Amino acid sequence: MVIDLDRCTACQACVIACQSENNIPINQESTFLEGRAIEWIRIERYWEGTYPNVKARFLPMLCQHCDNAPCESVCPVYATYHNNEGLNVQVYNRCVGTRFCGNNCPYHARLFNYWEPVWPEELKNQLNPDVTVRSRGIMEKCTMCIQRIRRATRGGKEVADQSFNPACVQACPTDAMVFGDLNNSQTQVSKKWEDERGYRVLEVLGTNPSVKYLKQVEVDA
Ligand code: SF4
Ligand code: SF4
Repeated sequence: MVIDLDRCTACQACVIACQSENNIPINQESTFLEGRAIEWIRIERYWEGTYPNVKARFLPMLCQHCDNAPCESVCPVYATYHNNEGLNVQVYNRCVGTRFCGNNCPYHARLFNYWEPVWPEELKNQLNPDVTVRSRGIMEKCTMCIQRIRRATRGGKEVADQSFNPACVQACPTDAMVFGDLNNSQTQVSKKWEDERGYRVLEVLGTNPSVKYLKQVEVDA
């Protein structure tokens, strides 16, 4: 995935789309205050400068699907591993809730279910039947909307570039996010990957993330 920060307006459409697609319960203010909100993607906000010359910077943060994922090596029950498509996947019914993986993720991309998930009565019928509802006591995180990948590639069929997208990418009103096959040099994501503005977060750690960010261009620079 490539995320162009020059296009991101921090509108949160990706966050809401992810919550809805992936059966993530609605976070109350109290869960944020306790630091226990569950968001598979969040908009990080950074401030630069001092008032009145202040600039806000935004960065959508999700699991980076690291090729050298530090979360995988610490799981005692192999509940998280790399699949053959390069995704860092989580086996919910194998997870025993040690939270070692969450502690070892430098991107804070993993979330622990402290409570059984609940939804308001009127929202129960909108749950996505393709996505497991996670119970109390296990870890969860961005799956790159694996249910959509499975549906598109069912029966081993070839899929054209951009014929489907994860929910966050689909919802982005400014097309800031591009998803696709990085092993095919002709895909949009592969071309964006080569953009000279590109960088990866905490690359120095050697995690080899599969998400690249394109830095914002200063109009007055
Ligand atoms: S971002 Fe965190 S959870 Fe995702 S693969 Fe990397 S270490 Fe694991
Ligand atoms: S790829 Fe899917 S699971 Fe991951 S942040 Fe986007 S919407 Fe959420």
